[in-house]
Amino acid sequence: MNLVNLKDKQQQVSFTEAVKTGLGRNQGVFFPTDLRKLSDVDALLDLPFVERSTEILAHLIGNELPKDTLADMVQRAFNFPVKLEKVDDKNYCLELFHGPTLAFKDFGGRFMAECVGLFNQGERVTILTATSGDTGAAVAHAFYKKANVDVVILYPEGKISLAQQKLFTTLGENIHCYAVDGSFDDCQALVKQAFLDEELKSKLGLNSANSINISRLVAQVCYYFEALAQLPKSERDNVHVSVPSGNFGNVCAAMIGSVIGLPIAKLSATTNQNDTVPRFVHSGDWAPKATMESLSNAMDVSKPNNWPRVQSMLGSEQFSKHDFYSRSVSEQVTEKVMREIAHTGYIAEPHTAIAFEGLRHDKGENSIGIFLATAHPAKFKESVENVLGQEIAMPRVLQDALDKSCLAQPLGADYQQLKAAMFEKLL
Ligand SMILES: *Cc1c(COP(=O)(O)O)cnc(C)c1O
Repeated sequence: MNLVNLKDKQQQVSFTEAVKTGLGRNQGVFFPTDLRKLSDVDALLDLPFVERSTEILAHLIGNELPKDTLADMVQRAFNFPVKLEKVDDKNYCLELFHGPTLAFKDFGGRFMAECVGLFNQGERVTILTATSGDTGAAVAHAFYKKANVDVVILYPEGKISLAQQKLFTTLGENIHCYAVDGSFDDCQALVKQAFLDEELKSKLGLNSANSINISRLVAQVCYYFEALAQLPKSERDNVHVSVPSGNFGNVCAAMIGSVIGLPIAKLSATTNQNDTVPRFVHSGDWAPKATMESLSNAMDVSKPNNWPRVQSMLGSEQFSKHDFYSRSVSEQVTEKVMREIAHTGYIAEPHTAIAFEGLRHDKGENSIGIFLATAHPAKFKESVENVLGQEIAMPRVLQDALDKSCLAQPLGADYQQLKAAMFEKLL
């Protein structure tokens, strides 16, 4: 796999290098230069999930990884199911929260851990990541107690749910957490700054586990194929997928899937009130505002890191602009939609409700709709119970985490503080 830095076309790297470095020069993200079509998508859709995912990843990554090694990695990473639930005549919900930390981030986090384990054999590596809620847990669990790996997680203090937070801040061992006095965008800016710091980078063997890491993105392509594989064959021709979007990694993966041949006819990237992309799509002006706190906190992002990747596919007509929709859903409407879905007997947490709302607005009458359930409702217990006025059951992993104490340390939104803290802890 050959990738180019979207901010500096001179910098071209292999998959291995892109995984190890995360971010390119001038903070540019890497993107594959050559997304070839798969030869027989129908045949692929007939395969079981793990086997098919190995084929897709082998196609994307190419011969840098031996096929049997890749097959073992995929088998270990994707050891939990994807479920497509029929909601009504024309709509399905793609449940991506059946992994160990109950959000779709487990797919990317676990496959990335496999890649880092393979590429950094023996060498010391520090994974530095910012989380808007669910990445932290997925990455922490994926790397927990792995030899030669330290994980540093930055999260916006008080801006993520207690369940989200406790899933990673209670682990200890090689998982080091900082509660940053600021927003997710501040955390993300600190991570970007760390990657410009050659001293820190070389002394700690820095790597990033954000969705800027290409290994996470390619892993996520696989469950879109699984979604269509679970659809009846007669319904695969006119599919509209709605993705609740924050950092725009997930919708980027859907688009890559389409570019390599998965028949996704239309895509909606639906945001909460942090609406930089919907405003950009309609006006052409990139004008991020201050990040606002929302019920769907994992999407409280106003400077989405993955947008340049999506834009590169739209700009090159690899995916038609006319088939891409992006709208913003207010807090009030999010609550209303959660209640409406509950009336049909399905409990959706806020991110899922936003995906459903986007689909309902954007989808044509004859399309088959798929909206993504990106997290288990219990991860947002407080807000789901408040909005729906009914109690929801706690899965065991969450209850266990909630019973433990938080080991995170406070940190100002200041790079020198972060650097000092990391050197003190890790050198
Ligand atoms: C991370 C996350 C999102 C947003 O995904 P992006 O890839 O950042 O757009 C949506 N829902 C949940 C539950 C998340 O954890």
